[in-house]
Amino acid sequence: MTGAGDPRDEELAGNLARVKERIWAACAAAGRKPEEVTVVAITKTWPASDVRRLAALGVREVGENREQELRGKVAECADLDVRWHFVGQLQRNKAASVVRACDVVESVDRARLATALDRAAGAAGKRLGVCLQVDLDGSAEHGPGGRGGALPGEIPALAELVADAEHLDLLGVMAVAPLGVDPREPFQRLAAVHDRVLAEVPTATMRSAGMSGDLEAAIASGATHIRLGSALLGHRRTFK
Ligand SMILES: *Cc1c(COP(=O)(O)O)cnc(C)c1O
Repeated sequence: MTGAGDPRDEELAGNLARVKERIWAACAAAGRKPEEVTVVAITKTWPASDVRRLAALGVREVGENREQELRGKVAECADLDVRWHFVGQLQRNKAASVVRACDVVESVDRARLATALDRAAGAAGKRLGVCLQVDLDGSAEHGPGGRGGALPGEIPALAELVADAEHLDLLGVMAVAPLGVDPREPFQRLAAVHDRVLAEVPTATMRSAGMSGDLEAAIASGATHIRLGSALLGHRRTFK
């Protein structure tokens, strides 16, 4: 299935090579080193066999945005040396399941969710890495269909809560650029929010920003992690 000459292997290898060229070029333009930027492959809607292929190509960080899909792929890929991120909107009643399945939740945007994750991590006997998701849209579309995120003004208090939580490690911040606008300005706002967090928690160095369409702007603004779906895996079926 993943033998020599497998067309999907070749497709993913080609996509990864093109993504690396884009990262190198963006880093060169920004005076940064490519090692400062980590790719998180967002594999939603793609099968576990693709996670396996990406891992064979050296990808070490993988993300999902739905609890059920995360759980299934983690189980199928239990033998792989990859770190799992959750990047979607999360209901508190799914917190325990997500905590058991993954290493990092990038999309924490409210105190009650942080508290539920802390309790679940304690019950699972593990530490959970957390990023605070910043809403750069201002529209605060929460709930199913919305993109989530806390408003910039809510972030310092959330950062304090997570930093003080017994079983959580505050890793940094995450954001999705608003649709249909030049991403450079919102990414600059994210940088300012992140700087405020870093002033209180200097170890929270992760800045997850940038997707397939805007990774260059994200790298220019100081992103440490870029979350790539379509550039790596191809275009998702349109129902999601
Ligand atoms: C799907 C998704 C991505 C990847 O999007 P692409 O445009 O396909 O690269 C990144 N972040 C989040 C939160 C996502 O849901």
